[in-house]
Amino acid sequence: MKRVYNFSAGPSVLPEAVLRRAADEMLDYQGSGQSVMEMSHRSKTFDAIIKNTEALLRELMEIPDNYKVLFLQGGASSQFAMVPMNLMTKNGKADFVITGQWATKAHKEAARYGEANIVASSKDKTFSYIPELDPSTFSKDADYFHICYNNTIYGTKYTKLPETGNVPLVADISSCILSEPIDVSKFGLLYAGAQKNMGPAGLTVVIVREDLIGEPMEKTPTMFTYKTHAENDSLYNTPPCYSIYMCMLVLEWLKHDIGGLAKMKELNEKKAKILYDFLDQSQLFKGTVVPKDRSLMNVPFVTGNDELDAKFIKEAGEHDFVNIKGHRSVGGMRASIYNAMPIEGVEKLVAFMKEFEQNNK
Ligand SMILES: *Cc1c(COP(=O)(O)O)cnc(C)c1O
Repeated sequence: MKRVYNFSAGPSVLPEAVLRRAADEMLDYQGSGQSVMEMSHRSKTFDAIIKNTEALLRELMEIPDNYKVLFLQGGASSQFAMVPMNLMTKNGKADFVITGQWATKAHKEAARYGEANIVASSKDKTFSYIPELDPSTFSKDADYFHICYNNTIYGTKYTKLPETGNVPLVADISSCILSEPIDVSKFGLLYAGAQKNMGPAGLTVVIVREDLIGEPMEKTPTMFTYKTHAENDSLYNTPPCYSIYMCMLVLEWLKHDIGGLAKMKELNEKKAKILYDFLDQSQLFKGTVVPKDRSLMNVPFVTGNDELDAKFIKEAGEHDFVNIKGHRSVGGMRASIYNAMPIEGVEKLVAFMKEFEQNNK
């Protein structure tokens, strides 16, 4: 059997221990004589899985009791519409910070449902930084304020949150959820597609303050209504059962093998530092993000020469460092080093980059 070092931005690497356990339990989940893929979502066995998944997530993220956890489908992209349909209901207005492609899509979708204001953008420099925010420019009567916490494509991350006062802060945390502790109480709503840092694709997690779950806009589909899922404990219809189970295994790994999110953060900082320290002294490779806004999860870099970039990507692939090509809008390379990327993966990648630099002077 061969395992590569997978630097994919998503779907991405999963902990090997989780995959092994899933393999062990594939044919007979805990004496049920069935795979989790085959069992009824109304069964006692699955009920224990979804409840345990929620309990683990609440424990790890220290989610306050006045927040609901919803297990949905449709990806983070569906939340770009679901958030305005459910939250843009008082004044029909929301503020957005444009820090990349996902933030842009969230804004564009919300603009179909109400007034979507752009308060700041970093588009002028290919989203290589997080813009300074001036609270006096925020809409006082906005129904919410939206940010993309970690910008997967461009490799930037907020180091301080916008001061939105009474306006609920909504964040897309698809590519940084579970990478470090965050103070959930500072947000009205958080959402994430699972396939970056919590499991396989198919599951979308929403963490929403209870008082924000009201009546949605008229004609909002039942399935796009938070209330539907909140009132039915995410079992209104068939949830993505197997993805939820895999997420549970990842959460158990985080709790028992890693030791929680503070520990995970330490490991992630250690991994990211190895790569950024190398980039900062390299004569060939350069990081594309201003140092103060660098992501712990997604590290884009370039040589400044398209041919050399292509050569590097090709040779990296031959050495089992896969999915390291940058997003087409940035070019170059991007190493996504999510929770499940082992430290050896980053050390070996840096060793390979050093060798490549030597050979291509
Ligand atoms: C991947 C990603 C998305 C899109 O997620 P889907 O689940 O594919 O819809 C949205 N936002 C961020 C920050 C992402 O990283």
